[in-house]
Amino acid sequence: MGVKTGLPDPFERPVMLQNHRPTAELQQLDAAHHMHPFTHGSALGKKGARIITDAQGIWLTDSEGVQLLDAMAGLWCVNIGYGREELVQAAARQMRQLPFYNTFFQTSHVPAIMLAEKLAELAPGDLNQVFFNGSGSDGNDTNIRMVRHYWAAMGKPEKTVIIGRWNGYHGSTMGAASLGGMKGMHSQGGLPIPDIAHINQPDWWGEGGDMTPHDFGIARARELEAKIDALGEDRVAAFIAEPVQGAGGVIVPPESYWPELQRICDERDILLIADEVICGFGRTGKWFGSETMGLKPDIMTVAKGITSGYVPLGASIVSDRIADVVNDIGDFNHGYTYSGHPVGCAVALENLRLLDEEGIVELAGTVIAPYLKKQWDSLADHPLVGEASMVGLMGSLALTPHKESRAKFAADAGTVGYICRERSFANNLIMRHVGDRMVISPPLVITEGEVDELIIRARRSLDEALERVKAEGLMVAAS
Ligand SMILES: *Cc1c(COP(=O)(O)O)cnc(C)c1O
Repeated sequence: MGVKTGLPDPFERPVMLQNHRPTAELQQLDAAHHMHPFTHGSALGKKGARIITDAQGIWLTDSEGVQLLDAMAGLWCVNIGYGREELVQAAARQMRQLPFYNTFFQTSHVPAIMLAEKLAELAPGDLNQVFFNGSGSDGNDTNIRMVRHYWAAMGKPEKTVIIGRWNGYHGSTMGAASLGGMKGMHSQGGLPIPDIAHINQPDWWGEGGDMTPHDFGIARARELEAKIDALGEDRVAAFIAEPVQGAGGVIVPPESYWPELQRICDERDILLIADEVICGFGRTGKWFGSETMGLKPDIMTVAKGITSGYVPLGASIVSDRIADVVNDIGDFNHGYTYSGHPVGCAVALENLRLLDEEGIVELAGTVIAPYLKKQWDSLADHPLVGEASMVGLMGSLALTPHKESRAKFAADAGTVGYICRERSFANNLIMRHVGDRMVISPPLVITEGEVDELIIRARRSLDEALERVKAEGLMVAAS
């Protein structure tokens, strides 16, 4: 396989000397003092977290020395794979030279300048100006304030409503979680914030009923038009969406969907924010999901793959049309201490250089993605799998008790998905479940041989899950 990673074969790598405390003790301390995100804490405490100590390429090692195939690239972010010494060196060099300086008070620094230039070069269209954030969530908070501020500057202060999608994910801060459509998040802590609205997602397999995918895609896109009409065009600031929903279960929209949405955004006076936090930097087979799905955003949110997760960083990449207005009107009273953190920017620059110069994004898109899709699609013959979908290197399997009718399970959503996830964990494959969909998003440097291994482990996990689902009497369709 042609992808050059510069990495040793994980199996040839010398065994790391472990000098940590025994696993059981670490698990007990973890349960006593560490509160986990998106986790039922006490339940995990009883079971004990799996403790990851080491990683190379696409392989993780746990505290017992067991190797796991990480088909999630950490949390959709380790695009370049683990163990790239160049990124370590970039961070060390930057920490030595200038570990921190701010960009608030009429100062700037070289890594932020160079990275802003690089992002402007990579990003499509007139997305030429960059506001740095610490993460995807606070990037979307930046976007909320920026688009509302923009419209106020344009003499339309009543254009404040931002429309997102049910089951979209835009992060976990008050603003970002409001933009997202995760009802489980809205139900905790007083969300959503004012002036956020939602339309339905383009999940044909799950929600398309008797419609063709084409008609369903058009219908779901036109919900945006209907929502704008209901609210009044003079009230709507922007529409935000992921080119391909990630955390919602890798929902690949019908082909008719994005062109219709783009038409609506173009015709109505609203901005399009593409949340590229997962889709950016090669995940969909091109540099940005907006290119893969054919959209022309006014702002792109990026994070995750920008540094391949080695250090936290995010950015809002903004069109000249908006940035010029925001820059002219006066102070933009917004920013984070770590906006444009020099170490984050230095690591991002090195990461983007390697993704580019080693042809990792290109090879992932042209060679690995088609191979992965072919192998992944072969899982669609499994009795538990209704639909296998893949865009670039992000894929999902919709689990079902009855393929022909695309039925849901009678059991609570996620019951069967969780069983399948447990089996894949037991088979040392990190594959996640979102409800009753299984999702993957492996590092872009995965080889064809490693794809084969991923598929073998996924199939074995599905077989074991099916056995258990049958034994527990769960292979029953919802009526
Ligand atoms: C992960 C994610 C975010 C939030 O990013 P954080 O860095 O976790 O704050 C936002 N949008 C999308 C699409 C994401 O997947």
